[in-house]
Amino acid sequence: MTDKLLIATHNAGKLVELRDLLSDVPYTLLSLSDVGIELDVEETGESLEENAALKATTYARLAGLPTLADDSGLEVDALGGAPGVHSARYAGPDATDSDRITKLIANLAVHPQPWTARFRCVIAIANPDGSIERHSGACEGVIISKPRGDNGFGYDPVFYMLEHSRTMAELSDAEKNDVSHRGIAARKAAEALRAMA
Ligand code: IMP
Repeated sequence: MTDKLLIATHNAGKLVELRDLLSDVPYTLLSLSDVGIELDVEETGESLEENAALKATTYARLAGLPTLADDSGLEVDALGGAPGVHSARYAGPDATDSDRITKLIANLAVHPQPWTARFRCVIAIANPDGSIERHSGACEGVIISKPRGDNGFGYDPVFYMLEHSRTMAELSDAEKNDVSHRGIAARKAAEALRAMA
């Protein structure tokens, strides 16, 4: 068994969080740029589960390494679960986090508050032989109309967590990892990786 694990994401925010969350697994963590892979796998699946598996298996085959990939998204109840699996592309391919937040708030404006929502994350671990396992996590919050906080990435500034009285972007990195969808999924994945080593 190799001691290397590829963390297959081009999202800098996710990479920082995953490196931290997986810091105690008995593998050397490599990024896509460490192994010279520039390909951005198109997320053609209809669910987070499908996309996480698609990314993990494609990069595992390309790199010849066990590979971990995450697919995550924001589900807003008033929008019937949107943007969900389309969270990254919600405002078009070249949009910024701020464009996506603006579109989200504009679409929510016609709906009564509270705008209940959750972040969901699915982490897939694939081996070059095609075997795969998945772990998931979710965390609940409400969307607020004015962004607050500078930490994190994506929709964090408008994702307010009632039990913390702060947005996800007002939590420190360690606090976010403690409670986030990705933190929950990654701790399950880390346990599985320790058992596999
Ligand atoms: P994907 O998993 O690469 O398809 O991207 C998921 C998208 O969901 C990200 O680009 C963000 O817009 C959003 N997202 C996923 N996780 C988080 C998070 O922890 N905080 C804020 N936004 C997130």
